[in-house]
Amino acid sequence: MSKQHTIVDCACGARYERRQVQLPIKDIGCFDCDDCGARLEIWWGRAVPAFKRIAREKNAARRA
Ligand SMILES: [Zn+2]
Repeated sequence: MSKQHTIVDCACGARYERRQVQLPIKDIGCFDCDDCGARLEIWWGRAVPAFKRIAREKNAARRA
């Protein structure tokens, strides 16, 4: 199986890369936005998401 990751945008503008990982046991948890505290996901089971903050592309995108 290939890793699939998706991009999650919070309403406040924060952006996260979401990746699905398999755990050996069931887990319960939730993920809140670092900036505004909004709940982005709740999970329960062996397939859980891992979130990684992505820098906003304000300055970076147009350099080329
Ligand atoms: Zn947010």
